[in-house]
Parts: sequence; C-alpha cells; structure tokens
Amino acid sequence: FSNRLEAIRTLPSVTLDGVAISLYGNIEFPHEAASARQRGGEGIGLYRTEFLYLDASAEPTEEDHYRSYCEVLKAFPDRPVVIRTLDLGADKLPIGFRMEYPEGVNPALSLRSIRLSLQHLDLFRTQLRAIARAACHGDLRIMFPLISTLLELRQAKMILGDVLEDLEEQGITYRREIPVGMMMEVPSAAIMAEQFAREVDFFSIGTNDLIQYTLASDRGDPRIANLYRAGDPAIIRLIQIVVKAGQSRGIPVSVCGQMSSDPLFVPLLVGLGLRQLSVTPHLIPEIKELIRKLTISKAENLANRVLRMETANDVESFLRGEHRKLS
Ligand code: PEP
Ligand code: MG
Repeated sequence: FSNRLEAIRTLPSVTLDGVAISLYGNIEFPHEAASARQRGGEGIGLYRTEFLYLDASAEPTEEDHYRSYCEVLKAFPDRPVVIRTLDLGADKLPIGFRMEYPEGVNPALSLRSIRLSLQHLDLFRTQLRAIARAACHGDLRIMFPLISTLLELRQAKMILGDVLEDLEEQGITYRREIPVGMMMEVPSAAIMAEQFAREVDFFSIGTNDLIQYTLASDRGDPRIANLYRAGDPAIIRLIQIVVKAGQSRGIPVSVCGQMSSDPLFVPLLVGLGLRQLSVTPHLIPEIKELIRKLTISKAENLANRVLRMETANDVESFLRGEHRKLS
C-alpha cells in the first residue's frame, strides 16, 4: 500500500462532479471480506461460493455454507453482500466431484453453473437454505450465475420459493424477503435484458464469460487471446443493452467481471451508465482514485466515441490514450 492509496481509502468513491460510483469486492473465500472492507469496499458484489467446494475434501454441509456466509456478513453487517449460487463445472471442478463430460462435448457449453444446480437439487437446496438463514444477519442477496433463458430463471426462483416454504413449515428462522439477481454473462440473456429486468432485482454483468460466449473464444486459451477482448465492440454494445434495460426498469446493474478491475475500462463503464462496480479487493483504492478524477460528462463523451468504433484495437488504443491523460 503506498501512502497515496492509503489516504484515499476513507474518501468517498465519487466522480469530480459528485456522482457516486459504488465499489464492491469480489471474493472467493470468506476471510477476504475483511480485506475488501479494509480497502474501502462498500460491500461484496460477488462471492464465488463454488470455492467452498474447490477447497474442501468433503461436500460442504448446510452448516458449512451458513458459517461462511455469516463470516462474510461479519465484515459487512450493514452493507450489501451478494452470494452467487454455485458456479461449478467446466473450469471449476471440485476435487472428488467427478464430472463426466461426454467425449466431444464442450464443458463450457454443457452442464455447468446454474444448469448443474438445477439438475442436482440437493446441492442447490442445501445452499439456498443456508443463504435464507444467514440473511437474518445482514443485507444478503442471492445471485444466479449463467442464466441463459427466462425459463431457467423462473425455475431457479421457484426452487428458492419451495426452500423458503420448507423453512417456514419447519419453524426455522430465515428471511422471507431476499433480493434475487442474476449474472448477465450469456449473450442470449443480455439480448433479452428488458424481459429479464422484470423478473429480478438486479443484474451483474460477468464480462469474463460474456466475452467467452460472445466471441466464441475460450477464456483460458492464450492462442486466441487476440479474439478474447473486453474492448470488442460487440461486448460494449451488449453492456449498453443491459445497462439500458436496468435503467428502464429501475433495477441496479453492476459489472463484476475482470473488465471492471481494469483501469483502462473504468471510464468507459461509467460513461455507459454503470454506477456500481465489483472489483478485486486489492484494486479498490486504485479504481477509486481513478473515479475521483472523472466527470460524468467526459465519461459519457468517451463512451459515445467508443460506441462508434469498429474494432477492439481502435477501442483499446483510444482508451489507452485517454488513460494516459488521466494519470
Ligand atoms: C464472469 O464470468 O465475468 C464472472 C464474474 O464469473 P466467473 O469469472 O466466476 O465465471
Ligand atoms: Mg462467469
């Protein structure tokens, strides 16, 4: 931590013209919540709960889930904490949890994430019970990953409804009103954002997968890194669609993919209308410092120029030039 960034920790995350851009932390383990707070984070925008599985020798119990969520809430008892339900499969496979993908099937396009949860209801229900119970101790929110269709979202919400009913019948303490959001990380969902916005309380754009699926480019294959680009005009247009849908229905939209942790793209995201970013905890001070140098009108001008560009090269070299002017 340099002194400069230490000093900025307690300052508000606002633009020069006074517009708040909330900064949340992305975490994989509960103990990281404290460091997100220590660095000036205003809550947790993404808790990747599948790490409960990736880290464990045995399958986590409802109590394991519950304890982890309560630990995160200890760092943020009065701030939003977004629990993303299990995003297992494809590149995230737990030890001892054999996932067979038939030969020739692409795991990233197969049974993963919410699709896996919807086919392993025992896993899903255990997690949802723990979330509903932990929600009594703070401002917990639920987020479903990799939603591709409205039917899938409705099914996930229906199971949540069932779980809450069971808790009620069993006389277990839980919270009835829990905000429910979804990741926007599949192009089909982004295209249908207007319709989805009527059925959830918030969106969070997962650029890591959104880029992978939009550009048909594996996020882990360096040989095609020239295609896998956050600056691709198709990505910027999809983000714009999602932000506009959120604005028109009055639901908050954030970005929790790697793109929001990259200072190059932060002015663009603000210019596209984003007012919440969820970032890698150690980068919170740096991103805040950048936000405090922006004005909304300049960011909007920048976004309008970018929206007229045709290639990722043009977008990224323009953003690099703008970034140099800011620093
Ligand atoms: C994303 O896809 O951008 C995202 C935040 O989720 P993950 O990286 O965990 O797939
Ligand atoms: Mg993802």
